Amino acid sequence: MSGIDLDTPLLGPLGKKAADALAAKLDLHTVGDLVRHYPRRYVDRGKLTDIAGLEMGEHATVVAQVSKATLRDMRSRRGKLLSVMIRDERGRELNCTFFNGHKLQNLLTPGKRALFSGKVSMYGKQLQLTHPEFEPLEEGEDIRPFVSVYPAADKLPSWDIARCVRIVLDQLDDPTDPLPVEIRRAQGLPELGRALRRIHLPETEADFHAARARLVWDEALGVQLALALRRQRAVQRPAAASPRKPGGLLDAFDAALPFALTAGQREVGEEIAADLAREHPMNRLVQGDVGAGKTVVALRAMLQVVDGGRQAAMLAPTEVLAAQHARSLRAMLGALGRAGELDAAEQATKIALLTGSLPAAARRQAMLDAQSGEAGIIVGTHALIQDKVGFADLGLVVVDEQHRFGVEQRDALRGRGERTPHLLVMTATPIPRTVAMTVYGDLEVSALRELPKGRSPIATTVVPAGEKPSWLQRVWQRIHEEVAEGHQVYIVCPRVGGATGKKGAADTDDADLIDLEDPDIGADSDDGSQRRAPLAVLEVAPGLAEGPLQGLRLGVLHGKLPPDEKDTVMRAFEAGELDVLVATTVIEVGVDVPNSTGMVILDADRFGLSQLHQLRGRVGRGSAPGVCLLVTDMPSGTTARERLDAVAGTTDGFELAKLDLELRREGDVLGSMQSGRRSGLRLLSLLRHEKVISTARAYAAEIVARDPELAGHPGLMALVDEVVGEEQAEYLEKV
Ligand code: ADP
Ligand code: MG
Repeated sequence: MSGIDLDTPLLGPLGKKAADALAAKLDLHTVGDLVRHYPRRYVDRGKLTDIAGLEMGEHATVVAQVSKATLRDMRSRRGKLLSVMIRDERGRELNCTFFNGHKLQNLLTPGKRALFSGKVSMYGKQLQLTHPEFEPLEEGEDIRPFVSVYPAADKLPSWDIARCVRIVLDQLDDPTDPLPVEIRRAQGLPELGRALRRIHLPETEADFHAARARLVWDEALGVQLALALRRQRAVQRPAAASPRKPGGLLDAFDAALPFALTAGQREVGEEIAADLAREHPMNRLVQGDVGAGKTVVALRAMLQVVDGGRQAAMLAPTEVLAAQHARSLRAMLGALGRAGELDAAEQATKIALLTGSLPAAARRQAMLDAQSGEAGIIVGTHALIQDKVGFADLGLVVVDEQHRFGVEQRDALRGRGERTPHLLVMTATPIPRTVAMTVYGDLEVSALRELPKGRSPIATTVVPAGEKPSWLQRVWQRIHEEVAEGHQVYIVCPRVGGATGKKGAADTDDADLIDLEDPDIGADSDDGSQRRAPLAVLEVAPGLAEGPLQGLRLGVLHGKLPPDEKDTVMRAFEAGELDVLVATTVIEVGVDVPNSTGMVILDADRFGLSQLHQLRGRVGRGSAPGVCLLVTDMPSGTTARERLDAVAGTTDGFELAKLDLELRREGDVLGSMQSGRRSGLRLLSLLRHEKVISTARAYAAEIVARDPELAGHPGLMALVDEVVGEEQAEYLEKV
């Protein structure tokens, strides 16, 4: 038979039944798809699988020994049931029930070893496999030391997949290896063909480790090449150079600055100033913990661009934040930001606020100011990105709180003119190194590591309200104390609540909330107990106002308020006219009220770690020390409580971001780099492969520097396609 390659459809090397099953159940269509369907793990043929390690609901494949087999009549049908007890090394047992008992009774006799596969469930107090299937471990025939266990599906057990893989591998010609042989040798990696065979059919443990290392490497290199190409193309585009202008607006601003910049702010400022002076676009990410002073850094960049006669746009993720940014930029600039007004400074510019829900007249004026060039700085939400808004000469886009924007969104605004605006992305979410090298790998990264001096520490305490209800009284008392000292307090709830009555994602201001998208919320949980819906702003606030917080001035803020009302509430809180703000995570990003010293987060276990860290960053921004109380019903000893203890135990955002990464399905993180079809990333892990990723990154930079189009490396270009998907690769071509 003539050889087949990775593009060959499965129907051909495989029969129709098998090809159809693989297509229907696992979405595998070509030889390449199947060969890239790697085993999930390997079981040692000689050892029984540990039954205690199985998870409820998991589709499991185990090596086990039959300990007991009983044939009985079925109650309502003809035929016999074969009830088989299988056991592991330690004598733990699983029950399997087969319908066609007659036929099987001779195959599954006590002492027989076989592969069993099915969904793990509980029947009474007995663990069982539902819809079990089995494959006897025959002596003699093609015995390998390891059995590859594949991600399988109902009626398509692991061993059927293994059989198909063997058939295909037998006919497959070794694919051309895309990896330059020097790299392969230097990294001590096997050839692609060998790796693809060995990952499915290892002879030794070393075999599958080597195979895996090679395939992981390909994924890492594919991602890094894609990013290197993207960086390369981005920096080649023309941009307007805006070198620093002595005696300009920026100099005037610096001269009037009421505080000294931190060393970090100065350094990052220099990097940005140099970037902006080039004729190619800046692509820079500034990361700095909450309160690190990123806004000043951004403003100084914007002023340099305005000095060059161009405009800067600042994108914020929410209307509240956009409005707040506009206010604080105006406040920081003072007379320098009041162009057109009576008391404007000589070089003054104008700041326009542009959000989706602005009254028509204000919106028209803001658009006009953007179009005419009257406004040097335009602050807004996504509305800015809409095609309708024209800029006279957009020189810089600042994106605040990057994690709320997708790559496409951030590019949409940049792609319009012949000259690409510079890009400055600001994020308070600390980014673990591997994430910085992948998801943000097309940006240069700067970090603000120190906080401005005189910042007060935040003390975080977990309040176990479920176990110690009296502690909750202490929380309300503490709020009274903060207010008595003239300070202000936030109370954060996971949900908005109110008449809509809908529980779930639509009722929050945040897609990242743990569990809220889960339809099971409020329904029976695993242990049969009822978990109540998360606390909601609109339900909590009235109770507090009439109860424990009586006498205090309470405001309510959430994403469903009309924009002008949001604005009014925020202003009142900033002006100190409210003591307590009961809010959703709308306050998570950027809100800056230095007089607020207390934050109470209700149902804290519903939030992600980084998110809690962001939230508490809202307090202790002035000179008085801040306190953050994480209230939870979760009993001690649960993972939820451990997570909260971690937040209470460290103020290191990096530490928490890493923990978050471990807890989150990292596929979600890497997945954000890809669009459309099935992910080409199967083995690469942001947790385990830091070294591989950074080595691949260095190689990728070198390769792309020498061969900017990868014209001399078609194999590597194919690798990019394979890993990031063709749509993304095409997208790369366009930019
Ligand atoms: P973030 O990085 O969270 O966006 P901000 O830019 O909002 O932080 O800054 C937090 C507060 O610190 C603001 O009130 C800002 O005016 C102030 N600030 C920024 N830089 C300094 C500095 N070098 N010294 C003192 N205060 C500063
Ligand atoms: Mg900020």
